[in-house]
Amino acid sequence: MKKRDYYEILEINRNASETEMKKAYRRLAIKYHPDKNPGDQEAEEKFKELSEAYAVLSDPQQRATYDQFGHAGLGGGGGFSSGGFNFGGTPFEDIFGDIFGDIFGGGGGGGRRGRGHRGDDLRFNLTISFEEAAFGLETKVQVPRHQPCEACDGSGAASGTSPRTCSTCQGHGQVRYQQGFFSLTRPCPDCNGAGKVIDSPCKPCQGSGRIRKKKSISLKIPAGVETGTRLKLSGEGEAGSQGGPPGDLYVVISVSEHSIFQREGRDVICELPISFTQAALGCECDVPTLDGKIKMKIPAGVQSGKVLKLAGKGIPSLQGYGRGDELVIVRVETPSKLTPRQKELLEEFAREGGEDIHPMGNSFFNKVKDLFG
Ligand SMILES: [Zn+2]
Ligand SMILES: [Zn+2]
Repeated sequence: MKKRDYYEILEINRNASETEMKKAYRRLAIKYHPDKNPGDQEAEEKFKELSEAYAVLSDPQQRATYDQFGHAGLGGGGGFSSGGFNFGGTPFEDIFGDIFGDIFGGGGGGGRRGRGHRGDDLRFNLTISFEEAAFGLETKVQVPRHQPCEACDGSGAASGTSPRTCSTCQGHGQVRYQQGFFSLTRPCPDCNGAGKVIDSPCKPCQGSGRIRKKKSISLKIPAGVETGTRLKLSGEGEAGSQGGPPGDLYVVISVSEHSIFQREGRDVICELPISFTQAALGCECDVPTLDGKIKMKIPAGVQSGKVLKLAGKGIPSLQGYGRGDELVIVRVETPSKLTPRQKELLEEFAREGGEDIHPMGNSFFNKVKDLFG
């Protein structure tokens, strides 16, 4: 068979970028992949051709040689003999892993280069009180996580023994196998990709080398956190495996509801019920704040719903400067269950009432009169 031009095979220009090439390769590889075209000889040939073209052109050095000298420059196919086609080079494995891993359900995968996996990140939910959220706290939490087993020093092998190199994969953790015309790698079935086999597993960790334990971690929660605030503790997550770094720990805060306060950003909101005589005559009330009770002057004639501000009595800013305010919402309570004497007094009060004592109501009913005559 006459060798076709690699660029033509990939359907790209001679000056196509690496990204364009990768895209073209993905598109065509999916189209001609043997799993999608079972028994189709032509598709198989096309796939083979495509893979070869990509393997050469994705290597900048080989691409340069090919651009200058064509197929001849690569010495009859750049290491690809037509019989036992071998994808020993890296580009095929790389792209195979990331394309077919997700499209064809993990065909290649597994053979991650470089040992050592970073440990998982952990999430720990912590509920704190309204006041703790406002002012911050130092506390200790017990976080369950995997730690290297002390009995075997993380090796997973019983004391006095050590893991041996897996003979199936010679410690590589993956095995190569032939599928049709090309060879693939799979995680080694005998050692599950670890490259090592443990003949007598350590009892405490059952050979995993890790043990789930509660670790006490000191936390400093800053003033001003709210529900949903995440604190990141670098390196406090799960231990890594095979020498990989540990993951991170995220402490996610949720703040309990308070019986009298609510929060809006940095402001604290508190509803203050007062009697209608207090509202009419004015008074000095005890008002709860985050710092304790304080006396507050309620002006005579205050209306229900009026918001009075206590500056600087709110939540400290998480950034560390300033505080919000406390907003006191006045609720005037209408008296119920009156004694006969109280009724009498109120009736007298009503008879006494002049034009000016209910300005809001008067203006309202004047508007109604205008509306309906
Ligand atoms: Zn193995
Ligand atoms: Zn152990």
